[in-house]
Amino acid sequence: MNPIGLVSRSGPERSVVAVEDVRFGQDFVVIAGPCSVESEDQTLAIAREVKGAGARMIRGGVFKPRTSPYAFQGLGLKGLKILKKAREETGLPIVSEVMDTRDVSWMGEYVDVLQIGARNMQNFSLLKEVGKSGKPVLLKRGMHSTLSEWLNCAEYILKEGNSRVILCERGIRTFETYTRNTLDLSAIPALKELTHLPVIVDPAHGTGRASLIPSMSLAAVAAGADGLIVEVHTDPAAALSDGDQSLTPSQFSSLNEKIAALRSFMDGLN
Ligand code: PEP
Ligand code: MN
Repeated sequence: MNPIGLVSRSGPERSVVAVEDVRFGQDFVVIAGPCSVESEDQTLAIAREVKGAGARMIRGGVFKPRTSPYAFQGLGLKGLKILKKAREETGLPIVSEVMDTRDVSWMGEYVDVLQIGARNMQNFSLLKEVGKSGKPVLLKRGMHSTLSEWLNCAEYILKEGNSRVILCERGIRTFETYTRNTLDLSAIPALKELTHLPVIVDPAHGTGRASLIPSMSLAAVAAGADGLIVEVHTDPAAALSDGDQSLTPSQFSSLNEKIAALRSFMDGLN
């Protein structure tokens, strides 16, 4: 693959994307929270739990890209106000998905990182807009996208003068139906060769099954990921979206212990 431009790796240096005191590309960053912000009680309870278990940032969708227009679409502004409270209470920065160019500037006042979801990876107007916003961007891989297409989308953002981009592998669609997507862990070392941008992994959307998240998370760590974004819910069975792929707080906490053990083992290898 030919180098694309600003995203290309030209030397040994890797970019560090700073979000408050969190350093993507330097620290190993675990982001956790519900798929959707459902209520203040739900979000604050989950935020406290994930912080206690070692998460460095909170996730939570308020604009949800649902397959059915009749499914829960997210709380919008009300949800952003809840996320702001979660941030005030825990001190953890927030990431949330933006779906519409018209929401970029005002949403940037409530969240620390703007997420571009898989379905919007190639929404070029949205990419240009988040590029102009100067906010850190979590750019998910489109479910049907090659690494080259994905990196070109990151290039759209950098071209606007915003180099604070974090890539997120979240699985691609294949003929397999047992898992929701096929988590392409080879993307991690491949992207490390191709780009200086940090790369994190979403094992929740990548598998669609909570039972598979711990092993795929550890595999992502072993493959060199710069972090993880994990869906956590205090009552997965009652979640308004993605309950099947949400860990309970105690499962999340035990995963973090295993990640810490694996990381210290890996440090010994270097
Ligand atoms: C999400 O993070 O909740 C989400 C919708 O992810 P993706 O865009 O990867 O499907
Ligand atoms: Mn989700």
